[in-house]
Amino acid sequence: MQNQTPFIHNHQLNVIKKQANFLLKTLRSVADRKVLDTVRVSAVSKAMDVFDELTAEQKKLLERLADQEEAQHVQDYLNSLEPYLVPFPEVTAKQAQKLFPKVKKLKLPDLERLDYAHTTYLRWVDHATNRLFIVYENQDQFVGIEGRITPTHKKGFCMFCNRHQELGFFNVKLKGSSPENLSSIGQYICMDDEACNHSITDKAPLEKFLSSVGK
Ligand SMILES: [Zn+2]
Repeated sequence: MQNQTPFIHNHQLNVIKKQANFLLKTLRSVADRKVLDTVRVSAVSKAMDVFDELTAEQKKLLERLADQEEAQHVQDYLNSLEPYLVPFPEVTAKQAQKLFPKVKKLKLPDLERLDYAHTTYLRWVDHATNRLFIVYENQDQFVGIEGRITPTHKKGFCMFCNRHQELGFFNVKLKGSSPENLSSIGQYICMDDEACNHSITDKAPLEKFLSSVGK
């Protein structure tokens, strides 16, 4: 039995998926073996690049990406990575409430049923108030931000996941903001909570945004 210690974070899985999809596209459209081999090598190296360190066994697992010949095999390969996923830590309602002390009657998603394995950052919208809530784990601590999300009804590149998606304008009021002295920071991000988590391949833009609002 292989050692299935989780080591792949959601955003890293998204990188592997992206490379797997590119390999698939190439398999379907290119017959030249040399070109295919180049794509195989580059897919594995790009997947490995997003890890700080890998054991020999983990490297072997990622190298298997290059061996796939057919669409179904690529999907089977991606499915075989699921046990290695490091899930987002589960959040209790109490912990979430603590992150947003100013919000009365905080509306929460079903925290027990969330897909933590495929989550880089937890987010949900209270549609009654158009507030978007974000919970992120930073240095073993949860941080929370909330702000208004306004649908743009347009597609564009999300600031967090960099994919072309239906965007909303997310506006977060800064600390110390008062009616006389309004200050806020806004960004265009995905409207769809799940799509963003299924696309995000780099945590840096999200972390930069969090630090710009003081988290
Ligand atoms: Zn996004």
